[in-house]
Amino acid sequence: MNTDIFKIYPDSIDSEAIRSAASVIKAGGLVAFPTETVYGLGADATDKNAAKKIYAAKGRPSDNPLIIHVASPEDARIYAEVSELYERLAKAFMPGPLTVIMPKKLIVPDEVTGGLDSVAVRCPSHPIARALISAAGVAIAAPSANISGSPSPTCAEHVIKDMQGRIETIIDGGECEIGLESTIVKIIGEKLVMLRPGAITADALRCVCDEVEIASAVTESLGENERPLSPGMKYRHYAPSSPLVLLDGTREAVASFLSAAQASENCAILCYSEEKALLKNENIIDIGSESDLKAQAQRLFGALRKADTFGCDIIYAHLPVQEGLGLALYNRLIRAAAHTVRKVNS
Ligand code: AMP
Ligand code: MG
Repeated sequence: MNTDIFKIYPDSIDSEAIRSAASVIKAGGLVAFPTETVYGLGADATDKNAAKKIYAAKGRPSDNPLIIHVASPEDARIYAEVSELYERLAKAFMPGPLTVIMPKKLIVPDEVTGGLDSVAVRCPSHPIARALISAAGVAIAAPSANISGSPSPTCAEHVIKDMQGRIETIIDGGECEIGLESTIVKIIGEKLVMLRPGAITADALRCVCDEVEIASAVTESLGENERPLSPGMKYRHYAPSSPLVLLDGTREAVASFLSAAQASENCAILCYSEEKALLKNENIIDIGSESDLKAQAQRLFGALRKADTFGCDIIYAHLPVQEGLGLALYNRLIRAAAHTVRKVNS
């Protein structure tokens, strides 16, 4: 298949290009587009055949449901049974990087929800995403625009590498600002269960809802016979092809471990900016200052992809803290590393 690639600038949107991409969605085709979190691979959320094409293009298991993207928070009621708690979340965090799981309405086909009776809804803030959904006139079902299992794409080059030839259109709208997928919460009565951490933190959610529970699968691996709350939790994710090992220890112990590793192993390192001066300038990727979690989030997936191009035997990265945005970094890295943590305290 020939893939059209459009460059669109978020601050001066080419409405002709948006109309053309929207017509692909309306005709049942696939369009990859930028959001503030990561790039999405979009199709008409009410068209079961279009949804099937998403699973085929990604190689995604069909029981792993898709998030549907709406142009405005009020549009959620077309697709889901919204509650008063949803209205509060919408007022506080939408448009933005929050996905809310609610009971679904019939208009959403089973192919989109993996047969579940609930649907995940998000209203992105990225101007290109919003323009595309509005022009399509329907919600857009969109998982991340990567081949299933590989790191989510945070710029058009990543999407082109994974999806060129597999989908009709790619919109190149530059780099994603946040770089990690949305926070996902499920509404259960008056309670929220966080299924995936993201830029909307648990503390931020607690300003709107008294009871916020963090699902154990966010930080732990699932037990053998445990049924996940979200089908996506059971799949290996975000992983580079070389094995990734996370280092847990004091700043000094980790730094000396890394210098020793550079001397004895063919390794790639995701390091903090402050460590660059201490390491050999070989197969290292600066993921931002130790205290700048936002920069680390924005760079993480690109860094995992880049680390793979070095052809090293092993990739080392720091084990993130589990607070605030750190919880989202922890969740992505621990899964990319298949829970491999090495303690290096001396
Ligand atoms: P992605 O599409 O790659 O951003 O991943 C979406 C995540 O949302 C996956 O982990 C899905 O399992 C999860 N998800 C989507 N819809 C539902 C739902 N109705 N119930 C539980 N989890 C969901
Ligand atoms: Mg994904």
